[in-house]
Amino acid sequence: MRIGIAGAGFSGAVMGRELAEAGHDVVVHETRDHVAGNCHTERDAETGIMVHRYGPHIFHTGDERVWAYINGFGDMQPYNHRVLSTVGSRVYSLPVNLLTINQLFDTTLDPAGAEAFIREQSDQSIDEPANFEEQALKMMGRKLYEAFFHGYTWKQWGLEPTEIPASVLRRLPLRFNYESSYFAHPYQAIPRDGYTAIIERILDHPGIEVRLSTPYSAADREHFDHSIWTGPLDAWFGHRLGRLGYRTLDFEEIRATGDFQGCAVMNYGDVDVPYTRISEHKHFAPWEQHEDTICFREFSRLAGEDDIPYYPIRMAKDKVLLEQYLDAARKEPGVTFAGRLGTYRYLDMDVTIADALAAADAMKEAISAGRPIPALLQG
Ligand code: UDP
Repeated sequence: MRIGIAGAGFSGAVMGRELAEAGHDVVVHETRDHVAGNCHTERDAETGIMVHRYGPHIFHTGDERVWAYINGFGDMQPYNHRVLSTVGSRVYSLPVNLLTINQLFDTTLDPAGAEAFIREQSDQSIDEPANFEEQALKMMGRKLYEAFFHGYTWKQWGLEPTEIPASVLRRLPLRFNYESSYFAHPYQAIPRDGYTAIIERILDHPGIEVRLSTPYSAADREHFDHSIWTGPLDAWFGHRLGRLGYRTLDFEEIRATGDFQGCAVMNYGDVDVPYTRISEHKHFAPWEQHEDTICFREFSRLAGEDDIPYYPIRMAKDKVLLEQYLDAARKEPGVTFAGRLGTYRYLDMDVTIADALAAADAMKEAISAGRPIPALLQG
C-alpha cells in the first residue's frame, strides 16, 4: 500500500517506520522545515548547547517495549529530572515531598508524622474530586495547594483550577519521603544527540520518503491508498464545527555566562510572576560542559489561529466539540487519526510511542486481513 502521513513527530515517524518495515511505501509530509514536532532539538550556534526548541522534553517510561524501541534509534543518557519552585522569597523542592512539607510548614516531620499532618490539612469531605482544585484540597490541603498549584495552574491554563480536570494534577505525586525525582518511572533519559536525531533515524528507511516544509492537503490524499493525520483533529475538517482549544507557549531567551539558575527547571508559583518557569538547557545534558548558558522564560497563553498548539485544554466545551469531531473522524474514509494533536490528548512522549506502535500493529493486521483500517487509534 502507498501511505501518506501528515506530521513527522513521534506518532508519524513511528507509524511510518513500522509500516515501511511491513513493506508499505510511506511518504511523510511535514509542514515545518525539521522533523520531530515539538520535541525538536538543535545545537545553539553560539554556545553549542542542545536546545529543546519547543520547551523541555524529558523522556521517562515504565514501558519495556517503548524503552527498547527508543534505544534502538539513539544513545539515551540517564537523566534524573528534578524541579524546584520559587514561591515568595523562598525556593522549595518539587514535586511535593517531605522536604517541601517541612520547608513550607517550618517543621521537622518524619514520614509518618508528615502523612498524618497532611491528612489533617486535607479536605476528607471530598469523595470524588470534580476538578483540579478539589483534587488538590483532598490530596494535600489548602496551604500546599495555594503555594505551589493555584498560581502556577492559573498561569499555565488561564483558568481557575475549579475549571480544570482533576486528571491534570494526578500527573504529579505527593511523597512523604525526601525523594525529589520529578518522575517515578524506572527509565528516565535524554538522547545524547537530541530528539531530532532519534526521529531522523526512525525515518531513515528505504521505504520512507520525507518531504519537509510540505503541508499535507486534502488533495494529497488522492495520491495514497490510505492517509494518517497527526495534525490537529479539527484542522483536518477545516474547523467546520468550531475550534478545539489549545494553550500555546511563548519563550523569552536569556543568555549569560556560567550558571544562570543552577538547575534545569525552576517553576514560579506566584501569580504575579508572569512566567510559569525558566528552563536552563545545558542542565538537560549534565554530561556536557559549556561555559555559557541559554535559558528560556516560559509564558503560557490561549493559542490563536496561527499559534503552535501545545497543550489541549480539554474543558467541558472542548470535550463536547471533541466528541463531534471524533464522530466525524470515525466516518471519514481512508484516514487514520493519531497522536497528541490528531486525537486531542495531553500525551507524554512514551505514551505517544506506545500508541503509535499499537496503532501501526492494528493497521498492519487490518491490511493483511483485508479489513477496513480503523479511523481512530487511541490508547
Ligand atoms: N503544576 C503546578 N505547579 C507546579 C507544577 C505543576 O500547579 O509547580 C500543575 C499545573 O497545572 C501543570 C500540572 O500540574 O499543568 C502538570 O504538571 P507537569 O509538570 O506534568 O506539566 P508539563 O511539564 O506537562 O507542562
